[in-house]
Amino acid sequence: MSTKGTGLLAEIAAQSPRKGPACKVGAVEVALEATDRADLRKAFADASITGTAIWRALRGRGHDVDLGAVRRHRAGECQCGRP
Ligand SMILES: [Zn+2]
Repeated sequence: MSTKGTGLLAEIAAQSPRKGPACKVGAVEVALEATDRADLRKAFADASITGTAIWRALRGRGHDVDLGAVRRHRAGECQCGRP
């Protein structure tokens, strides 16, 4: 196997999140009432709140999201392309 001819930049670009529809967590965030959305964003920004806690709360509200998606969304690694 040879990777000659493939630049590192191209390989990195291939690993970047694709443009596309928001992930499930982003969709939930958008669908929430403004006050709940603000609370969710505060929770994402608060390092003392774990992703698991956020995930459990969302599941408790009936949102079918998985923990990995919550973590990726929080880290900005999902399709939402959060700043
Ligand atoms: Zn997302």
